[in-house]
Amino acid sequence: MFGIYIHIPFCRTACHYCDFHFSTNTQTMEAMEAALVKELDLRIAAENPDFTQLQSIYFGGGTPSLFHLSGLEALLKRMLPHASNCREVTLEANPEDVTSERLETWLEMGINRLSIGLQSFDQDQLDWMNRQHTAKDAAAAVRLAAEAGFNHISADLIYGLPNRILPFEEELRQFVALPVDHLSAYILTVEDRTVLGRRVQQGAQNVPEDEAVEAEYRRLCQAMADAGFEHYEVSNWAMPGGHAVHNQHYWSGLPYWGIGPGAHGFDGAHRYANVANNPRYIKAVSLASGAQDLPTDIESLTPLDRYNESLMTGLRTARGIALSDLKKQFGHRPDQAEPEAWNRFLDRGVLVEIGGGVFRIAEPHWVMADAIAAEFFMA
Ligand code: SF4
Repeated sequence: MFGIYIHIPFCRTACHYCDFHFSTNTQTMEAMEAALVKELDLRIAAENPDFTQLQSIYFGGGTPSLFHLSGLEALLKRMLPHASNCREVTLEANPEDVTSERLETWLEMGINRLSIGLQSFDQDQLDWMNRQHTAKDAAAAVRLAAEAGFNHISADLIYGLPNRILPFEEELRQFVALPVDHLSAYILTVEDRTVLGRRVQQGAQNVPEDEAVEAEYRRLCQAMADAGFEHYEVSNWAMPGGHAVHNQHYWSGLPYWGIGPGAHGFDGAHRYANVANNPRYIKAVSLASGAQDLPTDIESLTPLDRYNESLMTGLRTARGIALSDLKKQFGHRPDQAEPEAWNRFLDRGVLVEIGGGVFRIAEPHWVMADAIAAEFFMA
């Protein structure tokens, strides 16, 4: 089983907190379309994949909803006709791009899930973030997508925002009233190379204290539970049947391809990263005569790297980690490698067994999941 991630590296404007790879110069969109198709073709020729094992395709960005429809179609036509078991084709969309015409075309192409970047319902916060949509646009886009026939709609929210005017409870109330079956919620992170990062460095912007952010996270968890969503990963909630297929590849250590500038892929033993620069990516791909010429850095992961990653990702999920699987795959188990820390967390109810030697972090402690997992890393 594998998934394919395709990075669409264009945005209309730069959100002030964002350090993903994107460019606001959309003049190279046509050349990018040709390069993405060529990279996909070269990887298909090199790996001759069994497309019946393809479970999910994910267009991320950047702003995939801004991308030429012809580009999306050309990419999908190379995969979907052979991918009889592909369950999920997701497109990230910004509310301002969601129109009846586009929705209809996306559905016709085979896209069956939208991930819509709402981020907030507080108009002041949206302006502060330099988002291009209004709070009203956001709700209208989700409703329009549902009316058009999208049965799976995810939304992104950001919490831990400074200078909140609309109470967080009101944001959550508006969110759960929408026809969505999935939520990804992220803490506002201050990244150096962003407008927000520079403002914080200059002392011109404060961000909330950790305690306030944690309190918002707990209110978010409660509101989602009250609305009937399952909290299945630290930052993700789903209604029954709404669990993201694609993310499971990242959390379960399954292989995935990464296509496009800045995209990452994983083949089970190596991780690769394409150059995160649009002109350099387009030029290198146009000159490539085989997958070996793609502008890609490849990193070999040791079994220890993969063991630590399995702990980190597995302990962020409700599914947890199976000790016997870790032993079988890597020769280590955290309870045997670090028995003192393991027993301490068990005694305090931080770690709980959910049956058959499978353990997870109890949900009230998910806020500390990364730090807890790090206690069991092996060097
Ligand atoms: S948050 Fe999304 S829309 Fe905003 S700049 Fe980043 S990738 Fe583009």
